[in-house]
Amino acid sequence: MNNVIAYPSREVRLGPLDITRALPLKERRLVGPWCFLDHFGPLSFTDDRPMDVAPHPHIGIQTVSWLLEGEVLHDDSLGYQALLRAGGVNTMTSGHGISHSEQTPKPNTGRLSGVQLWVALPESHRHAAPSLQHIEKVPVAELQGGVVQVFAGAFAGLVSPAHHYSELVGADVRIHRNAALSLSLNKSCEHSILVLDGDCELNGEPLRQRVLYYLEPGRSEIQCRSREGGRALLLGGPPFPEDIVMWWNFVARTREEIAQARADWEQHHDRFGEVKAYSGARLDAPLFRSPQAV
Ligand code: MN
Repeated sequence: MNNVIAYPSREVRLGPLDITRALPLKERRLVGPWCFLDHFGPLSFTDDRPMDVAPHPHIGIQTVSWLLEGEVLHDDSLGYQALLRAGGVNTMTSGHGISHSEQTPKPNTGRLSGVQLWVALPESHRHAAPSLQHIEKVPVAELQGGVVQVFAGAFAGLVSPAHHYSELVGADVRIHRNAALSLSLNKSCEHSILVLDGDCELNGEPLRQRVLYYLEPGRSEIQCRSREGGRALLLGGPPFPEDIVMWWNFVARTREEIAQARADWEQHHDRFGEVKAYSGARLDAPLFRSPQAV
């Protein structure tokens, strides 16, 4: 495929959840400001709770949580609680520090599938105050051949109400059975496509599951097709102009900042607050060795 680079994802296991980690990869750290992409599920469950991520800190990013099926209950150190369902989005801005937990609530539908994304904050906003934005229903457009939901930024004539600090797009694209869907892209942006479900073709080439397809800037349009019906995640933005350092749940610019954030978390510094709504122990930071520099 011309100018489309395929990056196989990594398989990660988090408790009972099978996770496909599509970003960051060794060869591809960012797509626009997007620096982390986990795809989890689909999973059916009965009495256990597949997601129970104890309180943990973040700096330097926005977390963007998008579900295809099921529910996730978010609690954070600002005291916000937000029940996320398919069609809505949770956008948490960590700024200089926040902590949160994510759990499968009770009752639930017994199904779970979704994506966990991070957006790197630019220098101008990475030390800002933390916040949470819960959007019950993101903008949706029925197009010829499919349906687009925009959970971040602007795309296909839709604008997400979520606040972001870099130009970006995050969209869930459904292609109907035996249909073709044409999508306009912003030429100044790089993009990536990850198949979430079913089958998808991009510009006449079939896409594999668990592979991130990267498209460099300069494209103004792509053609998607599906035989049985498909669903894909589209991310994009202008190439991020800053070098980032990423370690555990922290995104910064230097090793010293990472080491400081780790120490602050371990010492229960005010910076990260406390998730009072969560009953149980919080996560300990791993030992700090050398962070992967992007
Ligand atoms: Mn988190």
